[in-house]
Amino acid sequence: MSLLTELNRTDPARIGQALHRFASQLFPICRSITGAGIRQTLALIGDRIPLQISEVPTGTSVFDWTVPKEWNIRDAYIKGPDGKRVVDFQQSNLHVLNYSIPARGTMPLSELKAHLFTIPENPDWIPYRTSYYKEAWGFCLSHNQMLALEDSDYEVCIDSSLEDGHLTYAECYLRGHSTDEVLISCHACHPSLANDNLSGLTVAAFLAQFLGGRDLRYSYRFLFIPGTIGAITWLARNRETAGRIRHGLVLTCIGDNGRFHYKKSRRGNAEIDRAAANVLRHCGEPAEILEFSPFGYDERQYCSPGFNLSVGCLMRSVWGSFPEYHTSADDLDFIRPRQLAASLRVCVGVLDVLEDNRRYRNLSPYGEPQLGRRNLYRSPGRDGNGIEITARLWVLNLSDGEHSLLDIAERSGVPYAAIRDAAQLLCENGMLAIVPDDAALKTLPERP
Ligand SMILES: [Zn+2]
Repeated sequence: MSLLTELNRTDPARIGQALHRFASQLFPICRSITGAGIRQTLALIGDRIPLQISEVPTGTSVFDWTVPKEWNIRDAYIKGPDGKRVVDFQQSNLHVLNYSIPARGTMPLSELKAHLFTIPENPDWIPYRTSYYKEAWGFCLSHNQMLALEDSDYEVCIDSSLEDGHLTYAECYLRGHSTDEVLISCHACHPSLANDNLSGLTVAAFLAQFLGGRDLRYSYRFLFIPGTIGAITWLARNRETAGRIRHGLVLTCIGDNGRFHYKKSRRGNAEIDRAAANVLRHCGEPAEILEFSPFGYDERQYCSPGFNLSVGCLMRSVWGSFPEYHTSADDLDFIRPRQLAASLRVCVGVLDVLEDNRRYRNLSPYGEPQLGRRNLYRSPGRDGNGIEITARLWVLNLSDGEHSLLDIAERSGVPYAAIRDAAQLLCENGMLAIVPDDAALKTLPERP
């Protein structure tokens, strides 16, 4: 049975609500590229799926980068002349410049302003800003909040630490028949931001949970990592494993109401690129395919020239293109249960293609075989082929041992699932034979 058929046994509304609930559970945590926030997040994901956690010490060289110091924060505020907090980390973790060094003191507004960040064009939103690789401190607040500050002295406190420690990431490995792997990667380093961060995390966690225990063609590796430095660290420590990745997806910004976007791998014509394009074409929602570019999320690292892996990126609204991006408006209302569930469904659809995309041989290639006597043609007196018969005729015609099911779906315009179902039916009726799996698919030894 296809993965999608299995997924469809559960009401999508229930899946969507469960995804949203999990995002709500993760939302309040103050994450960063290192520290307690990402550890706590990975622990909650680890309650759902088996995770292997890695801790990489500060100072470790990873290609051209160095694992940074570990950042932790307990509290931060700006107090007004009356001693009341006018900016309070306890109200929103976005209020502190992420990775701020510790700071304490009293200063006039004119001096404080150099450390304040706002978004004048959206005066009620708090921006999300970071300073990972340059030591700095600062506060983020709504523009209206800043305008309300009187000309006076303010007490500032950032009770953080930036010290030698570790960079933390997690992997979930699901063993399939082949040692060849499918990579699913998402960043887990943003604080209270829902679409950019939590939508990818929750869908990836549910996807791993859904695949767990199933009979799979490929092995699957899920990475929950800090953006950029996490992917670089993982690649630097896993060069051999990276060589086994045949297909991959970066998941991000997949919970909002926007149309789907799939950004192709650097290769541009990889099987994952074609599978994603085909599934999106028939998913019932508007979708757009984007060419590769060397900016965005961790596909940049997987598609760096030394690796050049077949890894694309699935999004709804594209990062940086929606006003809520990297602001407090990217909250739990901005992501929706229905969209999260539909994104999970698209991911499962893409994996279905990868799992089943094989080549077949028509066993009666001389002339068109007589489908009617096998009850595989339309009933007498009915006109038109319908999708099922159309799919059967295409599969029979193109199954010459050369064309894969995805080739046939692309050429015929028939959804992949219908092509796959037709191939299965024709096999059961002795009309097709499967061409042995690609030599590239290395098989794992039998389980003990
Ligand atoms: Zn981001």
